[in-house]
Amino acid sequence: MAEIGPNRLETLVSLCKRRGFVFQSSEIYGGINAVYDFGPLGVRLRRRIRDLWWREMVDLRDDVEGLEAAILMNPTVWQASGHLANFSDPLVDCLGECHQRWRADHLEGDRCPNCGGPLSAVRQFNLMFKTFIGPLEDESAVVYLRPETAQGIFVNFKNVLGTSRQRVPFGIAQIGRSFRNEISTGNFVFRLRELEMMELEWFCTPGDDARWFDYWCAERIRWHQSLGLKPEHLRLRPHGEGEKAHYALASSDIEYLYPWGWAELEGIARRSDYDLRRHQEVSGKDLQYTDPATGQRFLPFVVEPSVGVDRTFLALLLDAYDEEEVRGETRVVLHLSPQVAPFQVAVLPLSNKPELTQVARTVEQELRRRFATEYDYTQSIGKRYRRQDEIGTPLAVTVDFDTLEDHAVTIRDRDSMEQVRVPLEHLEAMCAERLGQ
Ligand code: ATP
Repeated sequence: MAEIGPNRLETLVSLCKRRGFVFQSSEIYGGINAVYDFGPLGVRLRRRIRDLWWREMVDLRDDVEGLEAAILMNPTVWQASGHLANFSDPLVDCLGECHQRWRADHLEGDRCPNCGGPLSAVRQFNLMFKTFIGPLEDESAVVYLRPETAQGIFVNFKNVLGTSRQRVPFGIAQIGRSFRNEISTGNFVFRLRELEMMELEWFCTPGDDARWFDYWCAERIRWHQSLGLKPEHLRLRPHGEGEKAHYALASSDIEYLYPWGWAELEGIARRSDYDLRRHQEVSGKDLQYTDPATGQRFLPFVVEPSVGVDRTFLALLLDAYDEEEVRGETRVVLHLSPQVAPFQVAVLPLSNKPELTQVARTVEQELRRRFATEYDYTQSIGKRYRRQDEIGTPLAVTVDFDTLEDHAVTIRDRDSMEQVRVPLEHLEAMCAERLGQ
């Protein structure tokens, strides 16, 4: 087993580029810092992550509704939510040779970690990107790119409540892009300036929120494990007093053991009625909930599990990555769970003779209806197996000359590399069984 070490990230970055998971944004112009594009395989993996989250949080529950709010919002939202005043990180500049900028709360000691120079005093830097709406670039036209999707949910609380059949406790879920003008970036897609979040705002009776907080912490850890992340690489860490966001009563991070150490994968916060109360005050609209049984009116308390698609994507790839010695050669393999793997079954004709490719094409078309398949007839069979291992395809089906006689194919298992002969009529059932679906 390859150890989790500092080089693991670099190795993975190069695999992501080589195989088409992740590209630097606008690479031909030298890129842009902390912004990435996702290639054909990256898109597949990200869709799986989103779909699995949505299925778990919305489709399989009766008590959660979905929402897609716009990225641009009335700027008063950010004044009310406290983001204009408080959504900032402490910034220091190196006053020595390198002039690099740092997040003060990420530094140990009072010297520049890069050149050892002295550091400036700390100042607060707001992380929201500003732009203008309409043709005039003046103060009255300023709008912000949302730094979280949650506010879109809070300002739609009454709309969703009034149009759905929900009663407290219930949740509103949303997946979408957010933007944060992070001071210090790095670690690949871990800290981005354009990111994607999957957020649930869970509305409950005040006083019930501590219980729901524990419930969601347990649920969310279970979900990360269900994707295939190793339990020993996940932990729940309660925030200290100084760490909590401006809206939070309490919060915990689900952390993953990234190559540089434990770091936040998902944040779970008790937001109390902070957001609804602020929006009620500033908008002058009544955002209270009326309990149909008691007639009691109140602002619900909120528990929020919030997770980044990008950090999940990175954790899954890191966790799955392995290098093994096979007959004196290094085999790179992604042990991705079949539910997240970009492709589940690769169909490979042994050679590209038409009599084989025809059969292989038909086999692939059949399997495609049920599984994520890739048909590949290029290069030698050994190279094709290596590619499928490297992109994490759990099963490879090889069509060879015997297939024309015995109507059977070989299934090769990515993890064990075991090969078994399967009659074509049992192929679909066999794949389904092996993929656990
Ligand atoms: P950090 O302390 O690492 O800056 P945060 O506490 O600001 O993160 P939250 O506001 O809790 O993060 O955001 C919820 C989730 O959104 C995080 O757990 C993470 O998965 C994701 N996320 C936040 N900021 C970024 C970013 N810059 N790049 C990628 N994902 C991010």
